[in-house]
Amino acid sequence: MSSILLTEFSDLIQTGEPLAMHTWFQMGGNAEYYAEPQSWETFQNLLKCCARENIPFRILGAGSNVLVRSEGVKGLVINLTEGLPQKLEVCGNTVKVSSNVPLSRLVTTAVRNGLGGLEDLIGIPGTVGAALHGNIGTNSTDIGQFLKTASIALPDGTVTQIDASEVVFAYRQSSLSDSIILGAEFEFHEENPVELAQRMQKCWIVRKASQPLGHQGAGRIFRNVTESGESASELIERVGMSSTRVGGAMVCERHANYIIAQPECTPNDILRLIRLLQEQVHEHTGVKLALELEIW
Ligand SMILES: Cc1cc2nc3c(=O)[nH]c(=O)nc-3n(C[C@H](O)[C@H](O)[C@H](O)COP(=O)(O)OP(=O)(O)OC[C@H]3O[C@@H](n4cnc5c(N)ncnc54)[C@H](O)[C@@H]3O)c2cc1C
Repeated sequence: MSSILLTEFSDLIQTGEPLAMHTWFQMGGNAEYYAEPQSWETFQNLLKCCARENIPFRILGAGSNVLVRSEGVKGLVINLTEGLPQKLEVCGNTVKVSSNVPLSRLVTTAVRNGLGGLEDLIGIPGTVGAALHGNIGTNSTDIGQFLKTASIALPDGTVTQIDASEVVFAYRQSSLSDSIILGAEFEFHEENPVELAQRMQKCWIVRKASQPLGHQGAGRIFRNVTESGESASELIERVGMSSTRVGGAMVCERHANYIIAQPECTPNDILRLIRLLQEQVHEHTGVKLALELEIW
């Protein structure tokens, strides 16, 4: 059935593309089919074809929240960050972006234009679409609260606009998580750009000191909201697992909710380390750590 993809999009579809070079962990198997559409129209046509032919597909942003298993991914992986034009437009106190715009670009543009709200999110890797998909944020704020409208593709490839009032956001969750997000419009409050830039800089320094940001080969693992009220890293530290290593996967010294992959690391090492941390934390505290990282 998927061979339709090869006939209809012969210039676009690659088979057996290694996903390691498209994800932060830089490991894992191949995508059965892989595409880097160069226009939004082609992207929508691909979605229509997948819907019509019942072809399973996944959307890939910057790959900072995905671990690909060694077996790879069946179906089509559509990468939005290699070649699709980025759109970003500031109008008064609103900013319109396409979903493939890096979150950091949205944050710095807002700050430069004296639009406050997102500056705490500086340095969080990834694209705006994925940020809305998972309502990413910090302890004090998240992206969802600034959404005005979202443009989403329906399964048949047609596009619809939805108002923020129709979307439910919770901690690292949004009702958009089953939607394909094409773009969004955000509304911010006006503030002094110099003060915003100073606040952003402070957040950046704190984040850089506490997270493995320079590290390609790192991932944030667990949801921070736990039954005990402690963060995932506090729980991991409390049970004495903060310097644990399995094969080439090790808990990050700077922040125990991150795993660092050494050059010899495999996806199985990471999965085994995740399981070990979950078992130990559960055994000693009764708390079940839930994954924030997506396993493909
Ligand atoms: C060093 C580091 C620090 C981090 N710090 C934080 C933090 O402070 N706070 C936080 O919340 N997260 C943090 N994260 C997690 C990560 O940055 C976010 O989850 C980010 O939103 C992932 O974006 P991405 O483009 O890389 O998505 P990907 O990893 O490519 O994809 C993640 C998910 O989003 C989906 N997706 C991507 N684009 C779209 C789209 N247009 N429409 C629908 N679905 C889509 C994918 O299908 C997938 O399910 C951190 C990660 C790392 C590695």
